[in-house]
Amino acid sequence: MRFTRRSVLKFSGLTAILVALLPRVAFAARNSLRTVRTGNQPAGKTRLVIETSARPSYSLSYPTNQLVVTLSNTAANAQLAPAMATGTLITAITQVQSGDTLQIIADLAKPIDEIPRDNIMLLNPNGDNEYRLVLDFAAGSGTARATTATAATAPAKKTTPAHKYVIVLDAGHGGKDPGCIGKGGTQEKTVVLSVAKKLKTKLDAAGFKTYLTRSDDTYLKLAYRASIGEKKHADLFLSLHANANPSRAMQGFSIYTLSEKASDEEAAKLADAENAADKIDVSGFEQFDKDIRIALSSLQQHAVAAMSVEYANGAASAFKRAKITQQPGPDVRHAPFAVLRSTVPGALIELGHLSNAAEEKLLKSSAHQDKLVAAIVKSVQAYNFDV
Ligand SMILES: [Zn+2]
Repeated sequence: MRFTRRSVLKFSGLTAILVALLPRVAFAARNSLRTVRTGNQPAGKTRLVIETSARPSYSLSYPTNQLVVTLSNTAANAQLAPAMATGTLITAITQVQSGDTLQIIADLAKPIDEIPRDNIMLLNPNGDNEYRLVLDFAAGSGTARATTATAATAPAKKTTPAHKYVIVLDAGHGGKDPGCIGKGGTQEKTVVLSVAKKLKTKLDAAGFKTYLTRSDDTYLKLAYRASIGEKKHADLFLSLHANANPSRAMQGFSIYTLSEKASDEEAAKLADAENAADKIDVSGFEQFDKDIRIALSSLQQHAVAAMSVEYANGAASAFKRAKITQQPGPDVRHAPFAVLRSTVPGALIELGHLSNAAEEKLLKSSAHQDKLVAAIVKSVQAYNFDV
């Protein structure tokens, strides 16, 4: 017969006292639980965030009406009161320590399906946050049960001051590479540098820490631009461009995130054009340091992709709210842009078309640049850095 000593930590006042009386765990855990919080996401999804002091090693299991996150080599946190949002699928959260394994058990109001990989994010520390495992899920195909349990409520976690977040702004092209050129002679490299500088001033004033990849008319390699995001430990990387189209009638902004497969042929062509700046081989990751390649091949890239798309969707909304003309097509497209290849979430924004005479005029006007800047500032402020 084998005894397993389990110390059960319930998140309520009474059991918290019991926990304090339990013998201390007799192992030195490499990792420890910091916080647990829940929240509501669009489309009726519930978000569960588990914050740990070190990068978590985890597995998920799905007993009836429960979601169990098993963290290896992790110590429970007896003092912890999870921040439970109302209206989520999670009705209670329990910690169970078994040896050096910690289980976070979420009781669910409704059954769920297995969480797809794209809805699991593993985030690196930023601001006041440590490592976070983020799980998004909706009610699944199982029989929905009547909700009898009431969700415990706790005050939401205080929003981290914006000044902790680092933004890298990349004005595209520069130096020997002018980017696209309008009929009136306006060069992409000049427009985007002007917008990037204005944007830096506004974002710094709004409390962000902002860096430019270039602050003058300099040519930089794409991988070098991406590496600045890494070096500055950026929370968001925005590459600014202006577009050209064989059809002079085409106008409007468009927003792109990184994907190794383009979402459509036009996105693929645009990535080819932007990548041509340094004739980069878009099929390989050879130009990156080994640690970046490893990060890119891990779950991290799913997190970066998901966060990038989240930002890009918000940016498209901000541009539309500011009544900036949108290029026909989806709000966010995906293509293999070399400048976005890093572990930093980000987007490439084509501010408009220099190939369109009316938009060329707008893009070089200070008033329209200010309008673009204001929309981007709003998109950054609305972005949820603090998952
Ligand atoms: Zn460009």
